[in-house]
Amino acid sequence: MASGNLFILAAPSGAGKSSLIKALLERHQDRSMQVSVSHTTRQPRPGEQNGVHYHFVDKNEFEQLIKQDAFFEWAEVFGNYYGTSKQAIADTLERGIDVFLDIDWQGARQVKALMPQTITVFIAPPSRAELLRRLQSRGQDSEAVIADRMDKARAEISHYNEFDYVVVNEDFDRALNEIEALVISQRLQQPKQAVRHAELFSELLKED
Ligand code: GDP
Ligand code: ADP
Ligand code: 5GP
Repeated sequence: MASGNLFILAAPSGAGKSSLIKALLERHQDRSMQVSVSHTTRQPRPGEQNGVHYHFVDKNEFEQLIKQDAFFEWAEVFGNYYGTSKQAIADTLERGIDVFLDIDWQGARQVKALMPQTITVFIAPPSRAELLRRLQSRGQDSEAVIADRMDKARAEISHYNEFDYVVVNEDFDRALNEIEALVISQRLQQPKQAVRHAELFSELLKED
């Protein structure tokens, strides 16, 4: 089976990554893609479920996992630890399933160095004012947390030129279509198609 593609979607907090990934998975319910569930030491937001949005762990547990070399990548973001476990991606890619990582630029750099074939996508908000409006309208963070995230947004955005692709999330459906186009185009690469359609090509090339 052709191995799945690994995608990184990075963006300043509030740009819409989580919503875009969720909508893409809803469009493709054929188990051909999955989002990797990260570990984090931050507190769950109302409605967030352990094992679904994140694996919520305390600082001690996270540090134990670092010692056990369980992480593919990890980083400190907004004063909390965030990390992608090795287990979260390896088996899935092997089964031919595409995997999305919703991680920050520091994690993106680590992953790209380990797996250069990773496709990295930067999601930009249409303006700073709209980014602030989205963080406020999500209604899940305090004013102080929002101010901190707006402050850090500039740092995250300053790395946009390290990414392979850039999508501006102004109109949601358009941004979703653009990300979907990227995912589909990667699947159509010749070496992947050669593995996926090995039988077809052997039949097509058979001598009469
Ligand atoms: P949101 O960006 O507002 O949805 O806030 P989150 O608390 O979900 O994510 C905070 C930051 O941590 C974002 O920049 C994420 O991209 C990043 N992040 C989440 N999971 C991971 C991970 O596994 N590894 C790394 N390196 N960053 C992560
Ligand atoms: P992130 O995961 O990048 O922090 P979210 O997916 O949580 O961002 O989106 C932040 C907020 O902005 C959510 O309330 C979401 O519904 C809203 N949002 C996302 N994309 C758009 C868009 N294109 N237009 C308007 N609102 C959006
Ligand atoms: P939030 O706390 O709002 O869920 O996420 C804050 C930031 O942490 C986001 O920019 C998100 O992409 C990033 N993040 C979430 N999980 C991970 C992760 O596993 N690794 C890294 N490096 N960043 C992460």
